[in-house]
Amino acid sequence: SSPASWAAADRYLAETLVGHDAALEAVLASQRAAGLPEIEVAPVAGKLLHLLARISGARRILEIGTLAGYSTIWLARALPDGGEVVTIEAEPAHAEVARANIDRAGLADRVDIRVGGASEVLPTLVPGFDLVFIDADKERNTLYLDWAARLGHPGTVVVVDNIGREGEIVDPDSADPRVRGTRAGLEMLGTDPRFEASALQTVGIKGWDGIALAVVV
Ligand code: SAM
Repeated sequence: SSPASWAAADRYLAETLVGHDAALEAVLASQRAAGLPEIEVAPVAGKLLHLLARISGARRILEIGTLAGYSTIWLARALPDGGEVVTIEAEPAHAEVARANIDRAGLADRVDIRVGGASEVLPTLVPGFDLVFIDADKERNTLYLDWAARLGHPGTVVVVDNIGREGEIVDPDSADPRVRGTRAGLEMLGTDPRFEASALQTVGIKGWDGIALAVVV
């Protein structure tokens, strides 16, 4: 097993289960053309988010970290009529690319992009989210989990991205603030009585990483 074979297997799974999708491929092309970092979720992970939203019957979804709107589009497509995704993005240039992508995907009526730092935007949101996807500055994962519990309700699904970080999460003395923030978030999920949580490690085109999955109790 090697990173090359993980990536090949990931591409096989994406081709077999996700297939080609012109709108999402256009998002990735626009993200690259705008010089944004290629740190969106992998296709199989995007579809997994979409399925979690459908399985949970989510009508209101909160995303922290929009980038070019790749995961946002996967989530928005899972909504029933009248549903909405509120997605928070700190970088105006990222939000602008995302806005164009979401318009082009025909989802403008169900996606509300809030431009600003999540810690400023979160206190302004109306509670009642059914699914929360946390994928922004990992240093603040505990703050975002606290807001997920406050803005959610019993049964709200919470997904935290990048919990594997090439295995670096085992290092309690890591100098990387993203690792420290990720560990603090995982420890909160393990001890805070508002959550029941587990995690899945993943390997694939994004290397060795993973997601934490929780429900608000
Ligand atoms: N969820 C996206 C996807 O899968 O397509 C990827 C999001 S990317 C990993 C993280 C994004 O969070 C970046 O666009 C970054 O600008 C944004 N971000 C970083 N810190 C933030 C903050 N404090 N508040 C809101 N957004 C932030």
